[in-house]
Amino acid sequence: MPALSKRAESLGTENAFVVLAEVNALARAGRDIISFCIGQPDFPTPVHIQDAAVAAIRAGRHGYTPSAGIDELRAAAARSMSALRGFEIRPEEVVVGAGAKPFIAYAIASVTDYGSGDEVIYPVPGFPIYESQIVANGAVPVALPLREARRFAFDPDELAARITPRTRLLILNSPHNPTGGLLARADYEAIAAVLARHPQVWLYADEIYSKLVYDGEFVSIAGLPGMRERTIISDGASKTYAMTGWRIGFTASATLAPVFTRWITNTESCASQISQWAALAALEGPQDEAEAMRARFRSRRDLIVRLLNQVPGFACASPGGAFYAWPNVSEACALIGARDSEELRKRLLHEAGVAVLADIHFGPRTEGEGQHIRFSYAASEEHIERGVARIADFIRANTRPPRK
Ligand code: PMP
Repeated sequence: MPALSKRAESLGTENAFVVLAEVNALARAGRDIISFCIGQPDFPTPVHIQDAAVAAIRAGRHGYTPSAGIDELRAAAARSMSALRGFEIRPEEVVVGAGAKPFIAYAIASVTDYGSGDEVIYPVPGFPIYESQIVANGAVPVALPLREARRFAFDPDELAARITPRTRLLILNSPHNPTGGLLARADYEAIAAVLARHPQVWLYADEIYSKLVYDGEFVSIAGLPGMRERTIISDGASKTYAMTGWRIGFTASATLAPVFTRWITNTESCASQISQWAALAALEGPQDEAEAMRARFRSRRDLIVRLLNQVPGFACASPGGAFYAWPNVSEACALIGARDSEELRKRLLHEAGVAVLADIHFGPRTEGEGQHIRFSYAASEEHIERGVARIADFIRANTRPPRK
């Protein structure tokens, strides 16, 4: 059998998809599983957006487009990104892709050289594709731990300690997957002060949850003095408009736009034209449904945080954005004699019929930060109430008597 490349063998995955397969297999076998695994809105795409896609098909707008996307969508994305962030982004800086995800790989491949020792710093816990793509592109992954005591921001001194002359890229993600944490303006000011001393470092600001912020303001690091030129801003339609399967994301970077365009010409050619017209309707049409979804997520956040904090051994900080809750379950593990969050996750799945992800699905645990599991609360209120009640019952029923 001919061999596979080291690159292919080093490619990681999103464990959410692996756990999901496990959940689906149990469901097919007749088990009643309440799942909090999947990181996508549970709402249908708003009808006016669906209609724009149908109209595009009927009007014959279903061929290739320029690799950077149709001009109308690039302009609309520029307007929408500018309005939220409070500085001007020009349409020429914007490139449309098949989701925000492909730009993670394009960015890493565009600023690091394979096997040369170039380093990329990324948040842990974090979206697993960061580390996977750093490694697959032959760069060196440098984990930056998020701290619960800082509401899941990182310590700027820990960032400073990780930057070397080989550092080429820093990946930031706010609102954050999996913690739901937000970087505040003060965090960004501290990060910008560190980066000012290291002009060789690019920034990848993964802002896919930018419109799902519940407390305080959304801030982009690109708005801070000196940061704009070196920041690749990434956003998209998936989360805000319940359009995950439509595959539309967009980035903004004056320097990298032509490079990303060439990557797209070399890979998918362009994002689906049909989805691009739909995304244009999403950005330019009425925003009331997107706003209503945001309001629902916010009230579900309040519900799930309140309920999780009533589960014995769970301590859940209120996440400022996205649709994830990240309770600390160290004490719950101790109560039922589970070795760690992964054992707790498995027992919740098999014994309580509740599917969640464990912290190890988002990178190695940080010493001293305890055990966590992730809930996606993109699920109905009834689902949240029943699911968390099952967990509380399970912990109570399995709590071991304290050792004398
Ligand atoms: N970044 C983060 C942090 C995410 O959680 C996701 C989706 N789970 C993405 C990027 C990718 O989003 P999409 O490709 O659907 O635009």
